[in-house]
Amino acid sequence: QLDPSKLKAFSNAAAGHDGVLSDPSGELLIKPCVDAEINFYQETLAKHPDFAELMPTYMGTLSLGAPKVPSDAHKPELSQQEKDQARLHGVKIASETAIVLENLEHGFKCPNVLDLKLGSMLYDPATTEPEKAARLDKVSQESTSGSLNFRVAGMKVWSPTKQDFDIYDKFYGRKFSAENVSEAYETFFAALFSSDIKGDDAVQLLETILAEVTKARHILEKAQSRMYSASVLIVCEGDTTALNSLLGAVGPSVPSGDERAPTAKELKRAEAEEEEDEEAEPVAFKVKMIDFAHAKWTEDGGRDENTIKGLKNVEQLLDGLIGKFD
Ligand code: ADP
Ligand code: MN
Repeated sequence: QLDPSKLKAFSNAAAGHDGVLSDPSGELLIKPCVDAEINFYQETLAKHPDFAELMPTYMGTLSLGAPKVPSDAHKPELSQQEKDQARLHGVKIASETAIVLENLEHGFKCPNVLDLKLGSMLYDPATTEPEKAARLDKVSQESTSGSLNFRVAGMKVWSPTKQDFDIYDKFYGRKFSAENVSEAYETFFAALFSSDIKGDDAVQLLETILAEVTKARHILEKAQSRMYSASVLIVCEGDTTALNSLLGAVGPSVPSGDERAPTAKELKRAEAEEEEDEEAEPVAFKVKMIDFAHAKWTEDGGRDENTIKGLKNVEQLLDGLIGKFD
């Protein structure tokens, strides 16, 4: 059982609002959210299990008690410092309820994180106030959101020389154009170009990531949905030594040469080890769709071209990066 008083701030987000929490073990991510996001997770699990596989594992909801932020009606004027803070990180969501998700960074030694925000239309036109709509239209027009239906919302990348993460905030991603946004990909995947990593391994990793994005697109192409400002989140091991051993293990399994069938004793032992082994195996990367505050499955809305076009362009840029290894 999760004890809300034992939660700690999750300081590893690549983008988004403040107020995200983690449990003491770091396996779980607790994100204050609106009801629409909870509904989307639950409906997806019930009706779109194929898409659910592309989301972080959903563990349920958690009540965080009364919101610390007063409701809008009684909100005091923000100080300049608070305004700056809000501008940089996005204000906390004034919500009592949180979703409990698999923490996608858990199990990585140095989790590099890339948040790609999808869509050129960034808000639900039916429910958004004109002032916010105008602000988001401007951000879209002035960034690759408008031209490519996706933009870099934020990223963090492990720097071996600094022995710390380089942080790229939301303003970093807004400066790119369709012509040069590949530079952001190159910065995020810089480790793959290091001499420690074999070109073939890098290509295989990028192709696997690309295939996951394609999977998401194919599902949306067959469904009726609307997602405004959802993201593709790519987590990739940033420690080259750890990455190298993981990549070496990726390829098709080769028969060991030891063709003798395992003895009953060996089998029993392997089973016991599997059960003991509660920690998931470390992986080289994870690709998931996140951020469904403005997402819904619809009955008659048709395909979500706004999101589908973004996914296509995310794929195309990944393909371009793969081409650089030839
Ligand atoms: P919002 O943008 O509305 O604040 P997001 O769902 O996009 O909320 O989450 C914000 C940030 O938190 C993301 O950019 C990502 O870095 C991090 N994050 C969100 N969900 C997870 C998760 N399940 N595991 C790890 N990190 C996550
Ligand atoms: Mn987000």
